[in-house]
Amino acid sequence: AGTAAAVVGAGRSGQGAALLLRALGANVRLLEAKAENVSADFAARATAEGIEIMTGPHLPEYFEGMDMVVLSPGVQAGKIRALFPIDAAPEVISELELSGRYAKGRVLAITGTNGKTTTTALCAHVLRHMGLRVFEGGNIGTPLADHVLSGDEADALVLEVSSFQAQNCTTFRPEVAVLLNLSVDHQDFHADMEEYLQAKLNLFARMEDEDLAVLPAEMRDDLESRHFTRARLHFFEATDRFECDRLPGAHNQANMEAAFQALTRFGVTERDMREALDTFVQHPHRLERVGETRGVLFINDSKATTVASLKAALEAFDRPILLLAGGKYKGGDLEALAPLLKRRVRAVCLFGDSREVFEKAWTGIVPLGWEPNMQRAVEWLMERAEQGDVMLLSPATASYDLYNNYKERGEDLRRIFRELS
Ligand code: ADP
Repeated sequence: AGTAAAVVGAGRSGQGAALLLRALGANVRLLEAKAENVSADFAARATAEGIEIMTGPHLPEYFEGMDMVVLSPGVQAGKIRALFPIDAAPEVISELELSGRYAKGRVLAITGTNGKTTTTALCAHVLRHMGLRVFEGGNIGTPLADHVLSGDEADALVLEVSSFQAQNCTTFRPEVAVLLNLSVDHQDFHADMEEYLQAKLNLFARMEDEDLAVLPAEMRDDLESRHFTRARLHFFEATDRFECDRLPGAHNQANMEAAFQALTRFGVTERDMREALDTFVQHPHRLERVGETRGVLFINDSKATTVASLKAALEAFDRPILLLAGGKYKGGDLEALAPLLKRRVRAVCLFGDSREVFEKAWTGIVPLGWEPNMQRAVEWLMERAEQGDVMLLSPATASYDLYNNYKERGEDLRRIFRELS
């Protein structure tokens, strides 16, 4: 009570943090550079509750006299730090750190470059199957702040954690935390990669001996030399002991294995896990089966925004692939995929942005086309299709060149499929 708090960024977690802080009696100021990000509904509710909303460019005085600054994912912390006196505030934290102080329930936290949403959903599903009351959310879906505000009770909090949320934690301590993998979008900047790993490892920093850290076997040597946590370490790798119709590929076997190892802490047995997997429903846009038409199976992997997720997708099929790729390139080593392309891919059609980056990496490897949009790219590939091929949208890029988000991109593939069939 009486605390002065500035929340930077009015996305879902920023809104949640502001409402939570206000409910706790703080004087709250919510800063958002883009006025259009603040919906009229939210603005009305927040204002009625006494939250001060300030849109437009931030000013140094907005941060004066603050006891706490909550930074949202998506705001560039480094830039804000350089421009504004945020560190004058005794606390600069993430929404996860804030909400974690008030959330009740056993915490299972999941981070990594790829597979967070899938593994979070898996863990939450299995725990529900075990009869626990589960809150599932965090970085995607419902922010933890919303859960705390709702007053709902949960036995377990299964949280997807971004590196950003992890980085800005100071007391948050999960009972079980999973690092799935690490592949960096900016491999050319070693400093960034180290910082990115450090950010993720901060999730483990306050764990104690009785807690459990589940980590990828391929990072074992590196991680063991770092002494980044007191938690017990379990290293996982893909095995074939679990199967789930909706979860193809070795990467999903790794996700299932990581989930299982984390769940052992909750008393889950292999048998429980198998039973629960029978009823698991994967989120859409992740190697989602769209349907088959003219002998070609359409797969929507629009959520594959990194090169690592494209690699996982290429390895998940043993039928020849017609690949739809391209969009807003975020980095990653495309050239490294050349041998895999040669083995698995009949033809690639790029669409939208980043044509040059892809052409530079893949010209001469496989037949390569470019079209301005996905519809035309599908047509180009269908001319080269053979019975039994897989039409795979796994773009390895963000979608913002042609779409508002990856969901719209995936829906575009579904629409094109419907029109073809
Ligand atoms: P995240 O929440 O980390 O983005 P998702 O579960 O939403 O992860 O999956 C995003 C993309 O990454 C999908 O294309 C999916 O097929 C792929 N993917 C999932 N798990 C892995 C993994 N362990 N390694 C590489 N790619 C993966």
